[in-house]
Amino acid sequence: MNIILIGAPGAGKGTQARLLEEKYGMVQLSTGDMLRTAVKLGTPLGVEAKSIMEAGKLVPDALMVNLIKERIAQRDCAKGFILDGFPRTVPQAEALDAMLAEQGKTLDKIIELKVDEAALIERVSGRFTCEKCGMGYHDTFKKPKVEGVCDACGSTSFKRRADDNAETMKARLQAFNEQTAPILPYYAKKGMLVSIDGMADMDTVTEAIERILAG
Ligand code: ADP
Ligand code: ADP
Ligand code: ZN
Repeated sequence: MNIILIGAPGAGKGTQARLLEEKYGMVQLSTGDMLRTAVKLGTPLGVEAKSIMEAGKLVPDALMVNLIKERIAQRDCAKGFILDGFPRTVPQAEALDAMLAEQGKTLDKIIELKVDEAALIERVSGRFTCEKCGMGYHDTFKKPKVEGVCDACGSTSFKRRADDNAETMKARLQAFNEQTAPILPYYAKKGMLVSIDGMADMDTVTEAIERILAG
C-alpha cells in the first residue's frame, strides 16, 4: 500500500508514519528528514536547502521531485511507502503522478490530518526527538517514560529543530495555507482524499488511519 499523509507542520504526520512503518512494514519517506540529513552532511542539496528551511519557506519543486524520484525507485519502497511531507505543492503532486506512472506504481490513500492553528503551534513548540533513533516526543503530550531516556533505544541525547520556533512557524503555516492546501482539492477531485480529525489523541488518530487502510 502506498499512502500520503498531508497536514500542516505539527499535525502528527511523522508520529503516525513511524507507527505505520513499525506495524505494517511500510517505508516512511520524510522529505523533511531527508533534507535535514543533507544539511547535516553539507551536500549540495543541503547547502541550498539550509537557509530556505530556516526561513520556513519551501525548497524548490525541482530539487524535491528529484529527491523523491530516486528514493521511490529504491527496492525497499516495493513494500509500500508513506509519504510524509511530500507533495507540498500542486506541481509536486503532478510530478508525483507522472513518476509513479513511469515506475508502474499507484497511490492507495491520501489522508489529511486536520489540526487547528493553536494546537499546531503548541505541538511544534514542545517537539523534540531522540538524537540516536529519531523517536519523536513532546514536552507535554509525549514525555519519555523515564525522564531524559529514550523509550525506544535508551539514548539520553535529544534534539530540537532549528525551525520549531514561533517566528519560523508563522512562515511555515503561511506556506502550508498558500502552497500546500491547494493539493487537497487536487486529490479530492480524483476521489482519493480522506480527512480525519488530527486533534484527537495519538492512539485515536492511529485507529482512524488503520480503519481507512482496512477499508
Ligand atoms: P513539518 O514537520 O513542519 O511538516 P518537515 O520536516 O516536513 O516539516 O519539513 C521541514 C522543512 O523542509 C520545510 O519547512 C521546508 O523548508 C522543507 N521541505 C520538506 N519537504 C518539502 C517539500 N516537499 N517541498 C519543499 N520543501 C520541503
Ligand atoms: P509533523 O510530522 O506533522 O510535523 P509530528 O508527528 O512531529 O508532526 O508531531 C508534532 C509534535 O506533536 C510532536 O512533538 C508529537 O509528539 C506531538 N503530537 C503528534 N501527534 C499528536 C497528537 N495526536 N496529540 C498531541 N500531540 C501530538
Ligand atoms: Zn532513541
